[in-house]
Amino acid sequence: MINYFNQQIKSIYESRRALAKETSQSQNKALLALHPKFDDLLKAKKQTELDIVKSKSKGLDVSALQNSLEKINGDIKRYAQENNLQFTPPYLCPTCKDSGYIDGKPCECLTEQYDALIKENASLTSLPQFAFEDNEFASMTIPQAKGMNKLYSIMKNKVCNDFANCKWNNFMLSGASGVGKTCLALATANALLDKGVSALYLSAFEFVNIFLDKHTHKQTELSKKAEYVSECEMLIIDNFGEEPIYKNVTLEYLFSTLDKRMANNKKTFICTQLGAGALISRYGEAFLSKFTDKKYSLSVGYITGENLRKS
Ligand SMILES: [Zn+2]
Repeated sequence: MINYFNQQIKSIYESRRALAKETSQSQNKALLALHPKFDDLLKAKKQTELDIVKSKSKGLDVSALQNSLEKINGDIKRYAQENNLQFTPPYLCPTCKDSGYIDGKPCECLTEQYDALIKENASLTSLPQFAFEDNEFASMTIPQAKGMNKLYSIMKNKVCNDFANCKWNNFMLSGASGVGKTCLALATANALLDKGVSALYLSAFEFVNIFLDKHTHKQTELSKKAEYVSECEMLIIDNFGEEPIYKNVTLEYLFSTLDKRMANNKKTFICTQLGAGALISRYGEAFLSKFTDKKYSLSVGYITGENLRKS
């Protein structure tokens, strides 16, 4: 799990516990009104406990009081059983009592909550749903079909299905408009999210806007995303090269984000219509080499073929 969601998860569980406690208090109050005898027993218990503390502080013998406390506790238990009284707060998850943890390990409900949060924050809602199963290149005869189909298989099997052991940190898909880059990026994001891996999908335009807001100290929803851009396990930047270059923002934040991500072993996936020459003149040779160095990068030659978007 990544830190970005810690605070959110903490407050979700805090409010769950507060709600359970509040509900249980009002339920107990109603319950006790129906069982005055039980209420008396609880009061007697409290009083005896107080008496024990007082007597102890005076150095007196408390064995008689202790005996009556035991008797009262027995009576309370019996009365509750006979009258089927339940006093456990109505937790959403009784397993972990809405703490999110069992013996220090995340409860199943916490994992579910985390998976829901990474999906909510993946920025995919406005885009078409696309999964590896939707890939139809295997049955197509257009020029890019074979190469794209191979890429689908690599991204599915070597990256998504084996994310923890995947040797590549950087990925670059460069190719003409409409050859199928975005669909592959979306399928990758969706497969990772289903496995509980924090994947964030941004257009280069959104990427720049996030850092523009951060740079100008705007407290917007966008600027809050800056932390997640650095921290998520897979960052996908689509339409790379189409973003405006703002002085002191675009390149500076792009390079520092990338360096930070590489240093922390986070993966970055870029889709672009620009070829190597245009990428070098826009971002420099050092930048391009980070996405083409075979040791830690997966990139293929410029993809050309049929435009799937043309009608
Ligand atoms: Zn739980």
